[in-house]
Amino acid sequence: MQRATRAGAANGAPKPKPKAAGKGRARADKADGAVARKPGRRLAEVVADRIEEDIVARGWPVGEVLGSEADLIERFGVSRAVFREAVRIVEHHNVARMRRGPGGGLIVTEPDPRAVQNAMALYLRYKGVGREVLFEARAALEIAAVASATERITEEGIARLREVLDTEEREGERAVAEAHTHHLHVVIAELTGNPAMAMFIEVLNRLNEEMILAEIEAGHREVLSVAAADYHKAHVAIVDAIASGDAALAQHRMRRHLDAILEYLH
Ligand SMILES: [Zn+2]
Repeated sequence: MQRATRAGAANGAPKPKPKAAGKGRARADKADGAVARKPGRRLAEVVADRIEEDIVARGWPVGEVLGSEADLIERFGVSRAVFREAVRIVEHHNVARMRRGPGGGLIVTEPDPRAVQNAMALYLRYKGVGREVLFEARAALEIAAVASATERITEEGIARLREVLDTEEREGERAVAEAHTHHLHVVIAELTGNPAMAMFIEVLNRLNEEMILAEIEAGHREVLSVAAADYHKAHVAIVDAIASGDAALAQHRMRRHLDAILEYLH
């Protein structure tokens, strides 16, 4: 613990101890934005949290410079080493990155949904989530999503869904083998207009797809062409229900489709 925070201790946490003034480095203007140590957290993590909170509070202005390295070191009242560690954390979180050179500084970036999904997928794998448990979560979300998507469907949305169906028809068996069958489910999730729903559905679909593909690799290839044709037929029926604005029918067909997928896996 001590070892990790040694650099921070030299410059960090200037707020509480008035005796620091005796060393001639506690400037009054510095205490304002300075970061205070939190129990159980590395100082760099606290700085990274502060940067992230700041980005959220500003409405996530992608491309905006939050400040130069010197500015931010001054503002947070930490050592260069601690600050750079904080930068590595926010860069890893895909929220900001340091641009060197003139006009440089810490720039707000757009987060990468794939990175978030990968982290979620790894976590669920770590928890040993099997396909049945995964399916239960997926079904609950997707059945809610298909109703929501149906209720707010537009001509544009219908066109997007039909486009996915056209691609499926062209790709056939390959669409299943190359993990493209989840695409319709993801588009339906996006059409709910609810990014949280879309994010969870996409990650569950991807994990699910990985498990199905692992089975196919393991020698169940014969199910592939049957599955591809059946999946496509079910997808067409679901899209028809969405396009006609019948949420209950869309839900019914989605449930039947998900049950059928689960059947294939047994
Ligand atoms: Zn499907």
